[in-house]
Amino acid sequence: MFRRSIYKSPAELRAMQAAGAATAAALAEARRLIAPGVTPLELDAAAERVIRGLGGRPNFQLVPGYRHTLCVSVDDDVVHGIPGERAFRAGDIVSIDGGAEVDGWNGDAAFTLVLPDPSRPDVVAAREALSSVTERALWRGIAELASARHLNEVGAAIEDFVREQGGPADDPARRYGILTDYVGHGIGRTMHEEPPVFNYRVDRRGPAVKPGLVVAIEPMIVAGAIETFVRDDEWTVTTADGADAAHWEHSVAVHEHGIWVLTAEDGGAAGLRPFGVEPVPIA
Ligand code: MG
Repeated sequence: MFRRSIYKSPAELRAMQAAGAATAAALAEARRLIAPGVTPLELDAAAERVIRGLGGRPNFQLVPGYRHTLCVSVDDDVVHGIPGERAFRAGDIVSIDGGAEVDGWNGDAAFTLVLPDPSRPDVVAAREALSSVTERALWRGIAELASARHLNEVGAAIEDFVREQGGPADDPARRYGILTDYVGHGIGRTMHEEPPVFNYRVDRRGPAVKPGLVVAIEPMIVAGAIETFVRDDEWTVTTADGADAAHWEHSVAVHEHGIWVLTAEDGGAAGLRPFGVEPVPIA
């Protein structure tokens, strides 16, 4: 069977920037609007307006059976939550995942945030710590991509980083868990392509990291055990033990002069700085 190369040409990398920018703008809008009392469906509609206003279409709607622009996953839901009518509440930990297709190219990104709740400072602090570990694990993985020879070095770096963070604040005897049921992916003409991008160490090296590689790196970290199940809605992935979950994701291009985070407004400069990596714009 013919398979398209996983490596994109310089012109194709340039073409992917618009999809990345539309994805970033849609998620920024969701982040701007989220508050207690707002519903996931309202964020979903707003994100769709942004993407269509930039000449794109929500690529999650291209996934068979899925009709929304975003996935919105609250508390113990990890990923693939379907936006609904239940309003956000103070203290929720919310993961929002979305993507845009522009001119036949795709972007995919996700972030987590915790809604303030002054009545439950311990819960909020533990959830913010979980999101922070996950976000920094993502940037650690992206930073590794800048110097990796093979793709699976990214997952090893993420795993080591998460292990160094100790355990959840509300139960230091436990460890943060890295989901293994779901992993990142290549991205290009379609949202999900080869190769898989693991968030943990595996015994294969993976493909060579070289110009033209574009991957969505997306650690999913939980405050408990890594077992999950899919809810009766047939989409929402939830922790089996009810522990909180966080999910951060970016689409990242490797090019001739360095790496560039397609779905970050600054190309990843701020997130990569603590790891000593400077992104280079795609020429
Ligand atoms: Mg993804």
